[in-house]
Amino acid sequence: MMAQTPGNSDNTDESSDDLRVRMIELIMSLRTAGIRDTKVLAAIERVPRHLFVNSAFSQRAYSDIALPIECGQTISQPYIVAYMSELLKVSDRHKVLEVGTGSGYQTAVLSHLARRVYTIERYRTLGQDAEARFVELHLSNITAMIGDGTEGWPTKMDFDRIIVTAAAAEIPKPLLDQLRPDGIMVIPVGVAGGTQHVVRATRVGDELKFEKFHEVRFVPLVPGKAQQL
Ligand code: SAH
Repeated sequence: MMAQTPGNSDNTDESSDDLRVRMIELIMSLRTAGIRDTKVLAAIERVPRHLFVNSAFSQRAYSDIALPIECGQTISQPYIVAYMSELLKVSDRHKVLEVGTGSGYQTAVLSHLARRVYTIERYRTLGQDAEARFVELHLSNITAMIGDGTEGWPTKMDFDRIIVTAAAAEIPKPLLDQLRPDGIMVIPVGVAGGTQHVVRATRVGDELKFEKFHEVRFVPLVPGKAQQL
């Protein structure tokens, strides 16, 4: 269900029926593109993506495309959000860490799949805007912070699942260290602006197993907190 129901005020000019139709079309296109996990599709369906983009782009919020957000970053394409969420195999018992909050769209999708989501963003503007959306949408199982996600969560927690939504040249070791036994991490690996692939790391006992999936194009994972806001 989308957040808008007839009679509710919302901040677009479109009727909730139009938004509902667009959402159904988006879900159908994700199915056609190969997303099979019904829990992931249901989670996508619960997140009103038009609230995560600048109003100038709200007409295209339910198209399966990435769009620009503040600070020169992007909100991921819904297919990629669905695809990476599927690879992550999240259950409602899981504590998930996300690096790269951005608009908060992927975070919101995960919040419907996981027990709790911790998310880190290096730009204060993005982190604060995302947090305002979580409050507006009553997503109470998200903890957001501003910082450098390549260092992992500062209080050194163990996570069942870790997702990175920016491309890394190499998987940051502090993140692998925060992955608990049987934990799974999904991260785009490769050069910024060049070829990147989604990699899934699974902790099996003392070993890590790596699998390579789709080619993708993400903004780079940049170490350190952003100097500019
Ligand atoms: N999941 C987001 C995608 C945002 S793009 C969404 O659905 O909208 C990736 C984000 O990662 C950007 O906002 C960028 O600022 C952030 N990022 C890059 N390096 C980071 C780091 N070291 N720590 C935290 N966030 C980082």
